[in-house]
Amino acid sequence: MNHLQLEAERLDATDSLSAYRDQFQLPEGTVYLDGNSLGALPKRVLERINQTLNIQWGEDLISSWNKHAWIDLPARVGQRIARLIGAQGHEVLACDSTSVNLFKVILAALECNPKRNVIVSDIDNFPTDLYIAQGIQRLLGDRLELRFVKRDQLESALRDDVAVLMLTEIDYRTGERLDMPGWTARAKAVGALTIWDLAHSVGAFAVMLNACGADFAVGCGYKYLNGGPGAPAFLFVAERHLARVTPSLAGWMGHAQPFAFTPEYAPASGIMRLAAGTPAILSLSALDAALEIFDGIDMADIRQKSLSLSQLFIEAMQPLEAHGFELLTPLEPTKRGSQVSYAYQHGYALMQALRARNVVGDFRAPNIVRFGFTPLYLSHQDVLRAVSALEDIVNNGVWRDPKFAERQLVT
Ligand SMILES: *Cc1c(COP(=O)(O)O)cnc(C)c1O
Repeated sequence: MNHLQLEAERLDATDSLSAYRDQFQLPEGTVYLDGNSLGALPKRVLERINQTLNIQWGEDLISSWNKHAWIDLPARVGQRIARLIGAQGHEVLACDSTSVNLFKVILAALECNPKRNVIVSDIDNFPTDLYIAQGIQRLLGDRLELRFVKRDQLESALRDDVAVLMLTEIDYRTGERLDMPGWTARAKAVGALTIWDLAHSVGAFAVMLNACGADFAVGCGYKYLNGGPGAPAFLFVAERHLARVTPSLAGWMGHAQPFAFTPEYAPASGIMRLAAGTPAILSLSALDAALEIFDGIDMADIRQKSLSLSQLFIEAMQPLEAHGFELLTPLEPTKRGSQVSYAYQHGYALMQALRARNVVGDFRAPNIVRFGFTPLYLSHQDVLRAVSALEDIVNNGVWRDPKFAERQLVT
């Protein structure tokens, strides 16, 4: 490990993103490797929330919808996100949760491909994606078929009856990155539209939606974007589809004239038609402030450091592979997101023991330990600190303490 320590020091000394660490409030001594589940708190969010509470809500009250342009916040936050995902500003809206946005874009995609009636997805996709599609299937009955298959069967499932191919770019269990350009092109070749879930992509590297020809996308605000617990999510609709979408979740905020209060729904022009109800201004303000951090950053720098951190982690973890750790994440950098996962038989207890040492990752059933690498607030030396805590816990059987076996609701 000694040569790795020198390597880590060298990499940290030349790290162009190291100054960003100070923009986050993190507990002293904690190595936080769970920014892929809940990003850390940016200090500027504290200021922004205070201002939104005390001045905008506390003093200006309802006039803030106009005075502080609350009404435009979903679209403005959408514009900030657009740059990170290779979209145009008017193709992205920040709103609702990823799950709710999936409901909206699945119905929109089906509407844009009206002669087809099949949705293809990966049976190992994140469960909410599958559940939302199942809910829509219950609504539509025979008019919709769900074809959920193993990843190696996706290609043969993609036939000329498919309306929509719905995939998540980064596998939440293994951290594997799917080939977005390839799958989008394959879908297009059979006349299917694509929906990409960017939950573990946005903020981790430059997503290239328009360059790939993607049709729809959704993603989370609380993971790599650091928008806070339950932060608003976002949705993307490619410009060429926008005018064709008549939202099924047709709320007044997506109406052409919400304040005309007419009884008939008429969609707003553009992406605003995918808004449903009144936006969560406190959470959106937090997300907006968190996104300001990305404004001055080249996503290529984030990607470069992310790969450097995960590479070092995998190298340092190698001795543990003889102790029952099985690497689930592809070694090939282009096939990785910004997380590394191992299967380990005692994964749950191990993660509890690790957290007791202020090294925070998470656990996914049945036996996966996950580590997220967030270039804005992690150093290479943090990575090695995490691995040495892990080694100690494994070598000394620390995880065997019964207190680490107690299951909590959230893992
Ligand atoms: C985290 C995650 C979600 C979360 O959806 P919510 O509606 O925010 O709970 C959805 N999809 C994927 C792939 C995720 O990783």
